[in-house]
Amino acid sequence: MSHKSRGDEPRFTCIRCKSHVSCDTYGTKHRNHCPACLWSRHVDEEPGDRSCPCRSPMEPISIEVRRDGEWAIVHRCAGCGTLRTNRIAGDDHPLSLLALALRPIAKPAFPLDQFG
Ligand SMILES: [Zn+2]
Ligand SMILES: [Zn+2]
Repeated sequence: MSHKSRGDEPRFTCIRCKSHVSCDTYGTKHRNHCPACLWSRHVDEEPGDRSCPCRSPMEPISIEVRRDGEWAIVHRCAGCGTLRTNRIAGDDHPLSLLALALRPIAKPAFPLDQFG
C-alpha cells in the first residue's frame, strides 16, 4: 500500500463499483472505463492525456456500432455533459455490454402498445 510509482499510475479504482482496473490490457493503453460496470471518469481532453480538470463520473449511456462492426461505448459526463465514445476492451464484461445495448429496448422512451 505504501509503494507509489512516479506519476503514471497504471491502475485506477472504478468511481462506480470500486473495482481495481488495470489501464494496460488487451491492446489498449488508454483504458478509461471499468470492465465490470463500464463507468468511466472525465479525465482526458484527448485519449490518454489525463489533462481534463472535470474529473466527474462518466455514465455509459449507449453502444455505438462502428463501420467495421466494432462496438464502442458512448459515455456522458455527469458533471459537464460531454459525450465521448470509447472502444470496448477485450475484458469488458459481455453482460454489461449487452445490458447497455438493450437498454432502449428494455426502457423505451415511447409507448410500444401502438404497435400490433
Ligand atoms: Zn466499475
Ligand atoms: Zn466532465
